[in-house]
Amino acid sequence: MSTTKRHIPVAAPVFAGNETKYVNDCLESTWISSSGKYIQAFEEGFARFCNVKHALACANGTVSLHLSLVGLGIGPGDEVIVPTFTYVASANTVMYTGAKPVFVDSEPETWNIDPLKIEQAITPHTKAIMVVHIYGHPADMTPIREIANRHGLALIEDAAEAHGATYHGETVGGIGDVASFSFFGNKIITTGEGGMLTTNDDALAAKMRQLKGQGLDPTRRYWFTMVGYNYRMTNIEAAIGLAQLEKIDWHLAQRRRIADTYKERLKSYEGLCLQPERPGVKNSYWMTSLVLGEGRPDRDQLIQQLAEAGIETRPFFYPMHILPIYADMTRGQDFPVADRISTRGLNLPSSASLTEDDIHYVCDKLIGLLS
Ligand SMILES: *Cc1c(COP(=O)(O)O)cnc(C)c1O
Repeated sequence: MSTTKRHIPVAAPVFAGNETKYVNDCLESTWISSSGKYIQAFEEGFARFCNVKHALACANGTVSLHLSLVGLGIGPGDEVIVPTFTYVASANTVMYTGAKPVFVDSEPETWNIDPLKIEQAITPHTKAIMVVHIYGHPADMTPIREIANRHGLALIEDAAEAHGATYHGETVGGIGDVASFSFFGNKIITTGEGGMLTTNDDALAAKMRQLKGQGLDPTRRYWFTMVGYNYRMTNIEAAIGLAQLEKIDWHLAQRRRIADTYKERLKSYEGLCLQPERPGVKNSYWMTSLVLGEGRPDRDQLIQQLAEAGIETRPFFYPMHILPIYADMTRGQDFPVADRISTRGLNLPSSASLTEDDIHYVCDKLIGLLS
């Protein structure tokens, strides 16, 4: 084993295709702002990838999620069901609209929103369910769709971490009424900052497209028929995105290779629960992630010790219900699964560029620290 000092990042982008060529084309042609051929090509390509009719490029994955809620007409007085175990943007975007996020605990196995706990969170004010395909594993969409239909609720997918994941043959992004993706620097594919909305609903797509461009009437210049936003993506970002999308099968294959190697190395260690891949689904493995069982060392100490060996990991998200901004709204409610996984979970290095040697180095250190 090599003794040289390594640094293994948790998630670094890889530019293995036409990124430089397409960005230079933007600069040379002066099409650097929010119109240009790369926006259209990226949107059309992404729609094909998700097998949906419409894809709308946005400035980031937070504003795209916000736009999905506004597009669905969600506003003050409404409630939206959100998993407590998620990244803060999922809940914050509900707050932006004036509606209230109502939090639901996770299922113990995949860490996604627990379908069995959704119905008890529904009130006469509930307008939508937002699922989050956490760390790349799709939420359990069949029972959730059934609940949404029974109660007349919209179904939103926060697919920021799950490009290319599938659920019983359907690609995420096309399962709910609308979905939102992120292309932040550490996501499966990146545009630096960027987001995408996907939907099969023609009217919703048209409304969201108008909203993302200041509410401009598409048929009349400087005529605004709704209070919109500037949530557009630039042509430069879309140029990077198109190049990344051309190679998305490679990016996903790397993520799977990495998860497979970790699983093979770590499978015999009791008390390490790696995120599974349920029958019938394809995990996109944004990050190979694990939860330490009882009797295993302290998570934060482990992160520190791995960092000393040049291995960057990340603790799981704090669940929303313990954050100062949401604690008051959830007082008296119990979220035992989210409480457990958020204090015992960590994301392992998962960059597409990770070598097999890097993964073995991480596993050797991890196993050493566990025994
Ligand atoms: C990354 C992420 C977002 C937000 O995306 P940005 O592009 O960073 O704004 C939203 N939801 C989840 C679950 C995420 O992981």
